[in-house]
Amino acid sequence: MTTKLQTPIDYLKGVGPNRADLLRKELGIHTYQDLLNLFPNRYIDRTQYYKINQLQQNNADIQVIGKIVAFKEVEQKRGKRLVATFQDDTGVMELVWFRGQKWIRDNLKLNTTYVIFGKTNLFGGKFNMPHPEVELHEEHEKNLRSAMQPVYPSTEKLSNKGLTNRVIIKIIQELFLETGGRFTETLSENMRSELKLIKKSDALFNVHFPKSQELLARAQFRLKFEELFYIQFQLIIKNLIHKSKIKGFPFEHVGNYFTNFFSNHLPFELTNAQKRVLKEIRADLGSNAQMNRLLQGDVGSGKTIVAFMSMLMALDNGFQACLMAPTEILSVQHYNGLLELCNNLNISIKILTGSSTTSERKKIHAALENGDLQLLIGTHALLEDKVKFKNLGLAIIDEQHRFGVAQRSKLWHKNTSPPHVLVMTATPIPRTLAMSVYGDLDISVIDELPAGRKPIKTVHRYDKNRLNVFKFIRDEIAKGRQIYIVYPLIQESEKMDYKDLMDGYESVSRDFPMPKYQISIVHGKMKPADKDFEMQRFIKGETQIMVATTVIEVGVNVPNASVMIIESAERFGLSQLHQLRGRVGRGAEQSYCILMTSHKLSADSKTRLETMVRTSDGFEIAEVDLRLRGPGDIMGTQQSGILNLKIADIIKDKDILQSARFYAKKLLKDDPKLSNPENKVILDTYRALSKYKNIWNYIS
Ligand code: ADP
Ligand code: MG
Repeated sequence: MTTKLQTPIDYLKGVGPNRADLLRKELGIHTYQDLLNLFPNRYIDRTQYYKINQLQQNNADIQVIGKIVAFKEVEQKRGKRLVATFQDDTGVMELVWFRGQKWIRDNLKLNTTYVIFGKTNLFGGKFNMPHPEVELHEEHEKNLRSAMQPVYPSTEKLSNKGLTNRVIIKIIQELFLETGGRFTETLSENMRSELKLIKKSDALFNVHFPKSQELLARAQFRLKFEELFYIQFQLIIKNLIHKSKIKGFPFEHVGNYFTNFFSNHLPFELTNAQKRVLKEIRADLGSNAQMNRLLQGDVGSGKTIVAFMSMLMALDNGFQACLMAPTEILSVQHYNGLLELCNNLNISIKILTGSSTTSERKKIHAALENGDLQLLIGTHALLEDKVKFKNLGLAIIDEQHRFGVAQRSKLWHKNTSPPHVLVMTATPIPRTLAMSVYGDLDISVIDELPAGRKPIKTVHRYDKNRLNVFKFIRDEIAKGRQIYIVYPLIQESEKMDYKDLMDGYESVSRDFPMPKYQISIVHGKMKPADKDFEMQRFIKGETQIMVATTVIEVGVNVPNASVMIIESAERFGLSQLHQLRGRVGRGAEQSYCILMTSHKLSADSKTRLETMVRTSDGFEIAEVDLRLRGPGDIMGTQQSGILNLKIADIIKDKDILQSARFYAKKLLKDDPKLSNPENKVILDTYRALSKYKNIWNYIS
């Protein structure tokens, strides 16, 4: 059957070249298989009728039987609308048309029984249905209605060109006729009986032509499971192949650097989560495979120390290590933070960024190549071809969402064989999403903040309360605290943002005049050296207020700063707000985050602000973000192919995803080569998936 399903859609009865063209262009349907995998968005129940007195506001897809008793035309701002009074034995409602009024007047008769179908609104105390589907009751009775009529994805072009839902239903029926409705099974007997999954053919039939609500649910479950199972299966295989093919440097012993640091120089007790993650990394590094691990940890959860201790493991085994951060500021901060520790341990460490001088670079290049230099911290500058290591054993990337995949792979090729790679991100990715997108990476999570942190108090204030907010700032400064005031920076309107920032800076300077108050300003248009200078003034406490754009978002650490004011907070995304808030709450003092907005807020903005006020749990915030923006947006277009799901929904179906992943793992553990005849069907499907990538375009 699989071969038949590769038939171009043009050959299906009722399709023809024009419709085939439309299907290709509008829905990406090229073959029978693609059409079979066009799953309904929803189903409507055409056996249910409403009485007018049962109507509720915003009922969608309902049908009512009744008669039109009058027509009237109502003048409105532009043109007029046609209104029909529609009545049954329980009440009266209105049908409304804004277009096509002549046709309606010519074709619909008064006092004749019709079935109307559509969505209802409540307006001026009366129910109305705009642009209903209208059908003579007699005709309606003649057409056998199935309880659940599928509604397929469509586009305006499709319906304009006559490829309506009805037509799609017809051609899918045709497909079932031509193929006899028998499709190759793609899951093993074992798995189906264990999970009580219905057969593939039954599932496909019932998803398109549900016999009952129950069968529909089982059909959907089976197909969702299958879809998610094969994504996970492929990702896990990719990971396994990677592990078996690419040998890593085995870091066999825990040596002096690590032990000395651990016993004598560790500035604090590690959290349990930090300890657990270090063990996971240690296990990777000690194994024969190359580590490819993602470390997720909320802002302030203490990823840096984990990174540093991992680098010590590399050094202990005679290798070099590097740590790459996305900005100059952050690199400098990492460098300054690690410098003292390194001095105590007698480790050579250097920093390399865009602003390193030529002579510095030369020295660094040489020391890297002859092995004198053990640790290198820096920005993208690390990726330059001139930067060559003697023996790079471990590469760590901080804040990975700022780096592309290509850059990651460039690091890989810094050595004859690839170093171990640890990618750290402070943008918590919901587990469900991480599983699908990073299924081929191993994932560690620091899900615990160091003890003794006071939760940050977050409030939402409107612009008109600015005076109160400024008074609050003055009080905090009087107590010796420092303040961030952050303005949005959105690329499309960079000019305007710059103006907002400068206006804001001026107004802040007026309210906080020199010499009593000192203000730093940092934004994207400044030269790195100026930025750094301003940053340093703030870090040293010479300025009390830092006015900035989101350049400070990532990783900046000034423990004495205890207030984060975010201007036009409605313009920021949730994860950005969360990152920004993470800049405070790093010291012993009570910290605050104040979200300033105008009065006009969209529903989504409101949800974002409410979420920020309610919780500081990065994973919870990430889940809300995922719900608001959808997975494609969050991961960027690059990876969205993976998320191009046909039937499953990564948010709603996360339980199915988890069980699919569990079974994929279990299968590959029990029968790694899929040599058990029972699993042949899975092997075959897997091979077919790789062959017909255009159909199942999960894997890039
Ligand atoms: P992030 O995960 O955001 O990169 P950092 O590594 O910068 O977090 O750590 C934030 C702050 O917490 C730093 O000042 C760091 O020294 C401190 N810190 C990290 N781990 C602990 C711990 N276990 N106990 C106390 N403080 C810690
Ligand atoms: Mg960090």
